[in-house]
Amino acid sequence: MSKATSLQELSNQNEFIGRHIGPDAADTELMLKQLGLDSLEQLVEQAVPESIRLNEAMKLGGAVSESDALAELKEIASRNKVYKNYIGQGYHDCHTPLVIQRNVLENPGWYTAYTPYQPEISQGRLEALLNFQQMIIELTGMDMANASLLDEATGAAEAMAMAKRSNRVNKSTVFFVDEQSHPQTIEVVRTRAGFFGFELHIGPISDIAKTDCFAAYVQYPGTDGEVPELKSLADALHSKDAQLIVGADILSLVLLESPGAQGADIVVGSNQRFGIPMGFGGPHAGFFAFREAHKRTTPGRIIGVSIDSRGKQALRMAMQTREQHIRREKANSNICTSQVLLAIMSAFYAMYHGAEGVKRIANRVHFATKVLAAGLEKQGYKIRNSSYFDTLCVEVDDRQQALMQRAVDSGINLRAVGKNAVAVSLNECTSEDDIKDLLSIFAGSGFSDVFEKLEDLAASIEAIPPALLRKENALQHQVFELYHSETDMLRYMKRLESRDVALNLSMIPLGSCTMKLNATAEMVPVTWPEFGKMHPFAPLDQAQGYLELFEQLEAMLATCTGYDAISLQPNAGSQGEYAGLVAIANYFKANGESERDICIIPSSAHGTNPATAHMAGMKVVVSPCTIDGNVDIEDLKAKVEQYGKRIAAIMVTYPSTHGVFEEDIRDICALMHSIGAQVYVDGANLNAMVGLAALGEFGGDVSHLNLHKTFCIPHGGGGPGMGPIGVKNHLAPFLPSHPLQEVKGTKLENGVISAAPWGSASILPISWMYIRMMGKEGLTDATRYAILNANYVAEKLKEHFPILYTGKQGRIAHECLLDLRPLKASSGITEEDIAKRLMDFGFHAPTMSFPVAGTLMIEPTESESLAELDRFCDAMIKIREEIADVESGKLPQDNNPLVRAPHSLDDMLEEWDRPYSREEAARPLPYLHDHKYWPYVNRIDNVYGDRNLLCSCPSIDNYADEV
Ligand SMILES: *Cc1c(COP(=O)(O)O)cnc(C)c1O
Repeated sequence: MSKATSLQELSNQNEFIGRHIGPDAADTELMLKQLGLDSLEQLVEQAVPESIRLNEAMKLGGAVSESDALAELKEIASRNKVYKNYIGQGYHDCHTPLVIQRNVLENPGWYTAYTPYQPEISQGRLEALLNFQQMIIELTGMDMANASLLDEATGAAEAMAMAKRSNRVNKSTVFFVDEQSHPQTIEVVRTRAGFFGFELHIGPISDIAKTDCFAAYVQYPGTDGEVPELKSLADALHSKDAQLIVGADILSLVLLESPGAQGADIVVGSNQRFGIPMGFGGPHAGFFAFREAHKRTTPGRIIGVSIDSRGKQALRMAMQTREQHIRREKANSNICTSQVLLAIMSAFYAMYHGAEGVKRIANRVHFATKVLAAGLEKQGYKIRNSSYFDTLCVEVDDRQQALMQRAVDSGINLRAVGKNAVAVSLNECTSEDDIKDLLSIFAGSGFSDVFEKLEDLAASIEAIPPALLRKENALQHQVFELYHSETDMLRYMKRLESRDVALNLSMIPLGSCTMKLNATAEMVPVTWPEFGKMHPFAPLDQAQGYLELFEQLEAMLATCTGYDAISLQPNAGSQGEYAGLVAIANYFKANGESERDICIIPSSAHGTNPATAHMAGMKVVVSPCTIDGNVDIEDLKAKVEQYGKRIAAIMVTYPSTHGVFEEDIRDICALMHSIGAQVYVDGANLNAMVGLAALGEFGGDVSHLNLHKTFCIPHGGGGPGMGPIGVKNHLAPFLPSHPLQEVKGTKLENGVISAAPWGSASILPISWMYIRMMGKEGLTDATRYAILNANYVAEKLKEHFPILYTGKQGRIAHECLLDLRPLKASSGITEEDIAKRLMDFGFHAPTMSFPVAGTLMIEPTESESLAELDRFCDAMIKIREEIADVESGKLPQDNNPLVRAPHSLDDMLEEWDRPYSREEAARPLPYLHDHKYWPYVNRIDNVYGDRNLLCSCPSIDNYADEV
């Protein structure tokens, strides 16, 4: 019996920490013993250089239990006021089908998956993404589409860059922007254009024909509702070798003639209103569709159709060699993490409703708008736009303020346009009562009309010019007809999910990606309506809960990094890098040092770094690494000597992408500062540091943090993510701003990075919950255990595979590189063979050939228990034995379980004539008798897919051919 004398004593306030961190006390003891250590402290002393170690605890609160943290967050959320939003401007209320919410958005089988670099174990999300591309291709009328960008505004900026990149004939540097574009798009484009040296011409679309430009961006329909005819614009642009880029509303495309059919060259937009909550700005998927001629210059990832080694149809990311990880120079863009989970949700939305269902939704929104227009006109109001889909711009003379106020008093948000007009955008959720409420507000009295009469009037309104009505229905592919019952939808989603390996199946030891626990308690608030139903441009007095959340999270992240100020705007690490370099450029501009245009980047850098430097108008100078994998400080000194005050910044990753804490980091920072340059520390690897060392403390001026790595936002199969940046005080005045919301302490001329002022606001509760539940002790322990788990794996594997780099005392940070080049020389077995073979063991491969070709980079994270680490190491050791059999000649080089991996059920069921057994192929270790994952396809042919690029859904008949 316990002799407790208080309830408090029996409560386990810190329970969450033990749930988040894999190893328990007994495991820890065993692991330390294996490493020849007495304590975790001793390991930290050996792994983390003294020169950077913090000597006091972080100034964060203590750990809070799951239920207390949730209650606290619920209280914060309750300060958000969920009004009816008719603000529009790219964000609209909609219904998320609950079968999709529960089985995708709230399902770890989908949200904990990684970007599908290993296609054989990602066929489920690849198929869902292919469906997304098919949906976008049909709606936009274009040849091809990618698998998502971060939002509509950055999509527009990427389109601008691509239009220039792909056009060598037109020498103009002017980019035309329709003045009816959404304001956030104009500002994001303006910021990018400045660094590319483009001049923006913002004007009415009637100016396009007479403006010398290389491309024009047109909003379809315009932000105030008008539906422009695109064909004549496309013709005018094409006649001067310029391109037409269209920013399209996805729901309107169901009814409107597609931009593709009217000659558009690139079409971008947001998938938000296809079933994704507004979430105060995100996350949503930006879509991006283009002509086939653009396929090699397009940003983002494209899912393509290929075949596997049996000739069975299989999907993969097309043209993967363009991936920024691999190709440092001439990247098409810096996009890495995109918005896979949201793209998939919207594809399911279209499949669930089908062509007819989606059309009914679009028709309903459009008809509701006509009813509203009829009622307003009856009241004597003039509608400014002569055509519309869902948005009316109503002339209200001097009554604007009074009307807006009356609306707010009734819990309704309208949008002011200029001084004398009000815009109203209707949506999928708008009901008859909502229309009556709106008409009452405009009337200034109760609704006294007869609704049916208004409907009669509406039926005779022609709000879309006949020439702009879609001739051929969209969503005609069979996949949109197959899953209309909830049972069928549910089973289809489950079927796809079961083809994939995600964190709910086994550890995903991807170096540099930090695949750690995404706890349920962290995920639960994401679907609270207090967070989901908020429009990003709603008046801020309605968003006090969000503002409180931002303020608290910013303070937490500042403490974790040693920085003074945080911007939550960037939607991914790549965008954080860009925001950081923009801040640096603006800082130098303000100080009269605009001549600084060089960014030094070590050769081991993540591919996003140089791509970002180019976007920020900087020239990249690559600095080599020493044979120990560290930045070569002597070479750096020479570069400083050579380029002097032309150097704007260095971008270093810390701990390095080689998985080591470099001893010289303080000296590197000091050297750069000695010539007035800035230090950008890529903080994607923060998981090895929180609580033990701080970027801002040892010399960083600015960093991005990947909340989807260190701070537990799940990877979603390749997004969403969040890449906020931290800066020291001197850069704080240069953080990103926004045209439609006041972002405290910023000015519009700082530039705008994302469409939404606080990026993907609705997933920030995940990181808040994590930090709150871990507290300062928990977070520091997580770091210690990330280092312990990595060193334990390195210790167990080092006699089987050489570890490429270690720190001075023989320890690594949170990840390690296995050097497989010697094995390749002795056996012909490649890192790819090992990656594929791991699938037979039910594991996702570690990061392959980054940052060094011929290596695997393992990052176990703190969340894996000793049992799981051992299981993974056993698999790796078993694989090493198989390689030994190839080396010794016991197994032929071209017919062994490695080169023929992964093994599918098809392999098992056919006649067996291989020099190894079925058992060895499929169940090489005993634990596989307990649970076996079967790869859905065999090894996929990369070359075939790129030669025959197909990024839309093949006809269903192809699927029927499989067996
Ligand atoms: C993941 C990563 C990035 C890019 O982050 P995204 O969110 O994918 O854009 C940049 N640098 C490093 C070192 C990374 O590991």
